[in-house]
Amino acid sequence: MTFKVTILGSSAAMPTVNKYHSAQILNVSEQFYLIDCGEGTQNRLMKLGINPLKINSIFISHLHGDHFYGLFPLVSTMSLMGRRTKLKIFAPRPFDEILESHKRYFDIGTGFDIEFCEVRTRENNLIFENKVMEVYSLPLRHNIPCAGFLFKEKTPAINIRKDIVDRFQLGIAQIVSLKRGEDIVADCGEHITSASVTYIPYQPRSYAYCADTQYSAKLAGLIQNVDLLFHESTFADIDKSLAKRTGHSTTKQAAKLAVNAGAKRLILGHFSARYSDTSLLVDEAREVFQDSFEAKEGSVFEILRN
Ligand SMILES: [Zn+2]
Ligand SMILES: [Zn+2]
Repeated sequence: MTFKVTILGSSAAMPTVNKYHSAQILNVSEQFYLIDCGEGTQNRLMKLGINPLKINSIFISHLHGDHFYGLFPLVSTMSLMGRRTKLKIFAPRPFDEILESHKRYFDIGTGFDIEFCEVRTRENNLIFENKVMEVYSLPLRHNIPCAGFLFKEKTPAINIRKDIVDRFQLGIAQIVSLKRGEDIVADCGEHITSASVTYIPYQPRSYAYCADTQYSAKLAGLIQNVDLLFHESTFADIDKSLAKRTGHSTTKQAAKLAVNAGAKRLILGHFSARYSDTSLLVDEAREVFQDSFEAKEGSVFEILRN
């Protein structure tokens, strides 16, 4: 079962020749979730061979243009492609007003419904769930209301060891009790504890997307032990006063957040266009958190099941 993030765009407010505005695709079991939708997102999708019609949910962190100016062109293309399936857009208010005015003046969305789902940027809420995954909003500290998103695979159903079922000839009712966490007595009189014969078949995987934000100690508590963390690092460590003034983070602050969250891997991105060699930014983060990687257009970060 797939769980992977593809970087479509990784620049901050101003794009460069090689870097595009923020956008990522998360593929969980072949369900596609678009996270932010900066200018040019639909071209990036085409280049990577991702069919826009596979996207049913879009998560917008905040209403700065570098995070959503690609949305209406993408919606328009979906319409031209003959989309009929409903599209859900998760975003902070007043995105609903922007959406309504676009619908009114540009006649977008013909042929399919667009559902606005409000994201409350100060709250850590469950905002989406389906059979395999849950998504939580993460309060961020930016200069306008802004939310991150935690994508978490659901905890799988508990399994019971097959050799135990066979050895004690367990019936359905006994198996159900053990899976519920109850201890039982087998027909032969043997006492069997649930803990000794049940197991979780795999650890649920998780991905946290955190852009744009200043360093937030609270955030680390909301994403403890996350498998993969994207954290913006608009600035180098030397520019930390500028980062604070503009509601952004530095490389080392992003790395510190990864350490405090107990993250397994960190993706750095949303780099300011002032840095021509972004690999130096990653080197800086690695001084604090070794497993730091650069968000490059087209790069894929997969989380394997264990
Ligand atoms: Zn931004
Ligand atoms: Zn912003």
